[in-house]
Amino acid sequence: MRMLIMGPPGAGKGTQAKGIAERYSIPAVSTGDIFRANVSQGTPLGLEVKRIMAEGGYVGDDVTNAIVADRLGEPDAREGFLLDGYPRTLGQVEALDALLADRQQALDAVIVLRADTDELVTRLLKRAHTDGREDDTEEAIRVRQATYAAETAPLLDVYRDRGLLVEVDGLGGVDEVGERIAAGLDAR
Ligand code: AMP
Repeated sequence: MRMLIMGPPGAGKGTQAKGIAERYSIPAVSTGDIFRANVSQGTPLGLEVKRIMAEGGYVGDDVTNAIVADRLGEPDAREGFLLDGYPRTLGQVEALDALLADRQQALDAVIVLRADTDELVTRLLKRAHTDGREDDTEEAIRVRQATYAAETAPLLDVYRDRGLLVEVDGLGGVDEVGERIAAGLDAR
């Protein structure tokens, strides 16, 4: 299985991605996790992306595409994978298309977690407060939602036109949402 999971920040993509990856025995590849690991290790890449991430913007396509190509080239991702948080721009969709064409592979499904933006902002603010995430400011949280709406939400139409979307209500308990995803994938 080669899949994507998409949805606005805070909708629970990372949590669901882990469950799905386990179910299908494929690696869950999160560009956000890769960037965060680089930031915490203080690598050159980490230094480059730290401020962009804190402000809620997107890392450039060239850097992001290179990281994904690299990760998908590893043995565990050769046949199947679940990409979490990639692609996020049209340029990234094109890069992924080219990469998969090169490998003579295609996507099987694009899971979309639907959630209300206002609800997510409230949730993320609460989490920032209780977890003491100082760089999760209200401003950054709002910028992240706006960036998603402007740059990433339009990509859903691309994948809808290809007949790949599995849309699921993302509000609810972890298990509940996981069951909706499993049912959606089984129905394909
Ligand atoms: P995430 O954990 O997926 O929400 O990602 C955290 C942050 O990493 C995002 O707010 C972006 O700054 C950056 N990021 C992650 N994935 C991408 C991507 N595909 N393109 C650009 N920036 C990304």
